[in-house]
Amino acid sequence: MRIILLGPPGAGKGTQAKMIVKDFKIRQLSTGDLLRENRRQGTDLGKEAQKFMDGGDLVPDSVILGMVAKEFKKPELKPGYILDGFPRTCPQADGLDQLLKDQDLALDHVLVLDVPDSELVRRLTARRSCSECGHIYNLVFNPPKSEGVCDHDGSPLVHRSDDTEETVVNRLKVYKDQTRPLIDHYNPQGLVRLIDGTGNVKDIYDCILKVLK
Ligand code: AMP
Repeated sequence: MRIILLGPPGAGKGTQAKMIVKDFKIRQLSTGDLLRENRRQGTDLGKEAQKFMDGGDLVPDSVILGMVAKEFKKPELKPGYILDGFPRTCPQADGLDQLLKDQDLALDHVLVLDVPDSELVRRLTARRSCSECGHIYNLVFNPPKSEGVCDHDGSPLVHRSDDTEETVVNRLKVYKDQTRPLIDHYNPQGLVRLIDGTGNVKDIYDCILKVLK
């Protein structure tokens, strides 16, 4: 199964993707995670991406498409994948169409998580993630058991540098201007399903399951 998970930053894409991965035994391919890993390792790609990411702007399409094309060659993606945070622009969607065509593959679903802006700002500024396993917490409605450390492995929790209020506002604008219009790219193929991303994680996942099963 090959799925795109679209939605604004803070909509819960990462959280829902991890649950889908577990149940459907497919891989999560998050361009944001790949970029952050490149930054941690200090690669040229990571250094180039940094200035865009810190301002909440999109990394250039050519960089993203090159990175994704490399990932698509990996055998572990054969059983299927969920694309989290990609594509984010029309040229990226066109590039993805071409990559799929080259492999004689097609998408099965495009899920769009919808959440109002005010809720997104509240979620993002209170978001923390484990520096080791990536588990996501929220200080308001899903705090860790002990302050500042991950429940699962005891590693320190970090606040992403692009989750400040100023950057979040820009990221939401970028989503509206460049990413949400992708619904029109996929609608003619009958793949798009809008999912209400408010409420608790489990209820949202149940809505997703109804679409996938
Ligand atoms: P995310 O973790 O998906 O919220 O991504 C964090 C940041 O990485 C974004 O604000 C962008 O700067 C960059 N990024 C991630 N995925 C993409 C993409 N598909 N296209 C361009 N920039 C991206």
